[in-house]
Amino acid sequence: MSKFWSEVTRLTEPYVPGEQPKVKNMIKLNTNENPYPPSPKVLAALKGAVDGNLRLYPDPTADELCEAIAKAYDVAKSQVFIGNGSDEVLAFSFLAFFNQGEQILFPDITYSFYPVYANLYRLDYKEVPLNEDFTIPVEQFFHAEGGVIFPNPNAPTSIGLGLEQIEKILQNNPDKVVIVDEAYIDFGGESAVPLTRRYGNLLVIQTLSKSRSLAGLRIGFAFGNEQLIEGLNRIKNSFNSYTLDRLALVGAKAAIEDTAYFEETRSKIIETRHRVIGELRQLNFTVLDSQANFLFMKHGRVDAKQIFETLKEKGIYVRYFNKSRIDQFLRVTIGTDEEMNHLMEELATGILS
Ligand code: PMP
Repeated sequence: MSKFWSEVTRLTEPYVPGEQPKVKNMIKLNTNENPYPPSPKVLAALKGAVDGNLRLYPDPTADELCEAIAKAYDVAKSQVFIGNGSDEVLAFSFLAFFNQGEQILFPDITYSFYPVYANLYRLDYKEVPLNEDFTIPVEQFFHAEGGVIFPNPNAPTSIGLGLEQIEKILQNNPDKVVIVDEAYIDFGGESAVPLTRRYGNLLVIQTLSKSRSLAGLRIGFAFGNEQLIEGLNRIKNSFNSYTLDRLALVGAKAAIEDTAYFEETRSKIIETRHRVIGELRQLNFTVLDSQANFLFMKHGRVDAKQIFETLKEKGIYVRYFNKSRIDQFLRVTIGTDEEMNHLMEELATGILS
């Protein structure tokens, strides 16, 4: 084996994203994308940008988009950082705010990228087991040595944490950065963005991938006090000042500004979620109360892997985690009503009968 190969395999075990199937005409409920297209205003803005100045570098400080986000979320522009998807914002945050030798805390059963970043940067971490009912054991996140990170709502469990509980975590970690990953917040959770005014140790991260139907454009952002934002800018500018391309900048701005479309599509998803949870429970599924655009569920009798595989054969992709404690669960993204009807039909008529 070559020396280079042994060097390469010494690196961190990378994150494995959910499957992006190459087949056409399947129903894709496996990676929590939005089933509706982005706002028509986004598409118009992108066309304009393609015809415009692609030969020129984009704005490295993303001023116009920053202003639009600050206005929409009622914060100062200096309290906004934008990155190439929230994955990048998370990666920069781990590097900026967590230190080697100081153990960070995140839940056991959470977004599986967190341990990857921690390993990549050689950070110590402790995975705090969730309660029996999959809620976050708030007190166990007090007095962290190195900082705290968790998604709200949590993924893949779909359960949200209230602001009072988040405040307790902030108050009990006064000198450490607490990161709240709000990838799914727009589907019914309580956003912690207003708390950034009162807590200098809070960083809230959001994305346009889910509630704004723009997973393909890669836009994520963070809210926090000016010092935290300055920290993120330092990291970004030490890697790549142009992390946001011209298309992403204009498309994201149009998405943020089209509030009416955003409200319409997110309420559709919430309505569909409500209906489908009821129907699944009728079919003997235990479904956790979701505040996200996905469901976390297990059947009373039929094995999760078997349901996953049979659905896949029928062209319906959901997510199965081969991981202890959750290996009887499936994570199912909320699709259009039509897509969910197909899913229900397959479950009711074939798989479970
Ligand atoms: N956080 C959580 C909890 C997620 O599930 C995801 C999506 N896989 C992300 C962050 C990353 O989203 P994106 O990079 O598309 O903004």
